[in-house]
Amino acid sequence: MQLIRRAQWGAPATSPAAKVASTRGVKVHYLGSAYASRTHDRCDDYVRQIRAAHLANKKENYSDIAYSMLVCEHGTVFEGRGAHRRTGANGSATLNSRHYAVCALLGTEGLTRPTDAMLAGLRDAIEYLREHGDAGPEILGHRDGHPTACPGDELHAWVKRGAPRPGAPAPKPKPAPPVAKYEPFPGAAFFTAGRRSQIITAMGKRLAAEGCGRYAVGPGPAWGEADRKSYAAWQRKLGYIGAAADGIPGPSSWAELRVPTTGK
Ligand SMILES: [Zn+2]
Ligand SMILES: [Zn+2]
Repeated sequence: MQLIRRAQWGAPATSPAAKVASTRGVKVHYLGSAYASRTHDRCDDYVRQIRAAHLANKKENYSDIAYSMLVCEHGTVFEGRGAHRRTGANGSATLNSRHYAVCALLGTEGLTRPTDAMLAGLRDAIEYLREHGDAGPEILGHRDGHPTACPGDELHAWVKRGAPRPGAPAPKPKPAPPVAKYEPFPGAAFFTAGRRSQIITAMGKRLAAEGCGRYAVGPGPAWGEADRKSYAAWQRKLGYIGAAADGIPGPSSWAELRVPTTGK
């Protein structure tokens, strides 16, 4: 991390802003005005210009530059109010207490696309505030919870991806939820003599696979005595006795049989 301390860029070494013990995390900002790409030796000029503009802002009555940290297109991090100081940039006293504010030197005209170096610098600033300012895990944009376009669509999309360091491997996608693989219990009344269904065929194949098949032909597709005998063998295999092993499927033994879905 390339960090330029306050005193190094020409601000008083310590911010006069109110102290804050910890925050929920960090909000990312951009300038929201035109900004021209420049050589790095001129980046600190712009940081001083922002501080001067904030101090001159009678409406907000800022005591200091409003941001916690600022990051230039070259990836250098400038200390603003710094760690453990309440920001003035998030839109209200409550929002300022909840999150630190890190501003990218990125405009709505001119330099509008964050460079990889800038994204890495923003990530550095976030990690710095976590380590030195007790920032929590949240990473949000200024627009999250406040009516503003800040920090612009591109930076906001990056924030929503979790503000990854450029070049870091993408997080593994979550495995898809399992699709229903087994036939739901169709109800005991489904198993009546002569009922024809692919479900009965699928059931018979599973019974045979479990060593419970009592089929001379088939199984399936019509429910018959061989199915009942086969299913009774399955119930006995599960430990059912007496009337509980009557060969008429019930919900528990059916669930355990795991009949593959037929789509019917
Ligand atoms: Zn903002
Ligand atoms: Zn720079």
